[in-house]
Amino acid sequence: MAKSGRLLATAEYIWLDGGRPTQGLRSKSKILTTDKVEQLSDLPEWAFDGSSTWQSHGSHSDCVLKPVFFCPNPMREMEGNHYLVIAEVYNSDNTPHITNTRSELAKLLDSAKDAEPWIGFEQEYTFFEYSRPWGWPDRGGFPEPQGSFYCGLGTNRVFGRQIVEGHLQACRQADLALYGINAEVMPAQWEFQIGYRGIEGEAVDPLTISDQLWIARYLLERVAERHNAIVSFDNKPMPGDWNGAGMHTNFSTTATRNRENGLVAIKAAVENLKDSHAKHIRDYGDRLEERLTGLHETCHIDQFKSGVLDRGASIRIPLPTSQQGHGYFEDRRPGANADPYRVAARLVETVCLN
Ligand code: ADP
Ligand code: MN
Ligand code: MN
Ligand code: MN
Repeated sequence: MAKSGRLLATAEYIWLDGGRPTQGLRSKSKILTTDKVEQLSDLPEWAFDGSSTWQSHGSHSDCVLKPVFFCPNPMREMEGNHYLVIAEVYNSDNTPHITNTRSELAKLLDSAKDAEPWIGFEQEYTFFEYSRPWGWPDRGGFPEPQGSFYCGLGTNRVFGRQIVEGHLQACRQADLALYGINAEVMPAQWEFQIGYRGIEGEAVDPLTISDQLWIARYLLERVAERHNAIVSFDNKPMPGDWNGAGMHTNFSTTATRNRENGLVAIKAAVENLKDSHAKHIRDYGDRLEERLTGLHETCHIDQFKSGVLDRGASIRIPLPTSQQGHGYFEDRRPGANADPYRVAARLVETVCLN
C-alpha cells in the first residue's frame, strides 16, 4: 500500500516504433500517482529513448508519448486498476513524429465526420514455433493439403486453440469490439475480427477500431508469450500452395448504409477505389505481392476487380449488402502486416473525401 493509503494503478504505454518497412509495437509500464483512470487527461505524457526504437539518433533522442486511447489491462492479474494505453509519438518540438501514422488518420477523419464511416477488420495471423508453423511436423514433411482446417476441429486439424481462447478472453476483458474468431485455411493460421457489431451506440469509427486492433495485436503477442508461441503477421508465411494472411477491411458510411440507395454510393466508392488502386496498395502492407497473386482467394496485385460474393475480387460486395441494397463493402487487398491507421486513412480519403 502506498503512503497515500491507495493502491496505485498501473498503465502500460504502447506505441508504434520506427521499424521499416513494417512498424512494430513497443511498450513500457508506468505506476500512476492515482488509483483510477477515468479520462484520457488522467494519463500523463511520457517519454522514451527513440534511439533504441529506430525513431531518432544521437543527442536529441527523447521522443514524447501522448496518450490517446486507454482500456483495462487484462494481462496484469494484480489487485488494483491496470490499463493499456495507446500513445502517439511526438517530437520534442510538439510536432507528430514521422512514424506517427495515427495523426494523419485523425486529421482526415475530422474532415469526414459527416460521412460517419464505420469499419471492421479481419486480422489473419499464423502461430510459429521457431521457423515452422505451430504444430506442423517438426522433422520435415507437411500436414495434409489445405481443405479440412478452415473452422476445423480436432488435435490433427487445429493448432493453438488454447492461445486463441486466451486471446478472446483478454479482448473481452479489455472491452474491445471483438466481433468473432475462426481457424483459417492454412493449419496454424487464425483470424479475429474487430469492428462494427450492430451494438447501438458502440463507437466503431476508424480511429477507435484501429486503436483497438493494435491493442488486440498486443494482447495476442502477450497471450502467445505464455505458450512460447511466435505470432507471425507475415502476408505469406509459408511459400507454396498455402494461403497467405490478410487483413480484409469492411467499410460503410451513412451513404452506403442508406436504405433507399446505398448500392449507388457503394458503386461510386468502387469507382474511386479503382482510380486510386496504386495509392492504396502502397499503404496496404509489405511484400503484398507475395499474397496478392490471383490465387488463394485473392485478386492479382496489378489488377482491380469488384464483385458480389467474389472472393477473387479486390472489393467484394457481401451477400447481405447486395440482397438488401445497402450496407458495407469489403476491401480484400490489405495484408496481415498492414498498419490499420494507414489502411483506414486511405479508405476515408478515397471513399469519404473524394
Ligand atoms: P467474411 O465473410 O469476409 O469472412 P467476417 O464474418 O469475418 O467476414 O467479418 C465481417 C466483418 O464485417 C467484421 O469485421 C464486421 O465488423 C464488419 N462489418 C459488418 N457490418 C459492417 C458495416 N455496416 N460497416 C462496416 N463493417 C461492417
Ligand atoms: Mn473473415
Ligand atoms: Mn479469413
Ligand atoms: Mn473477409
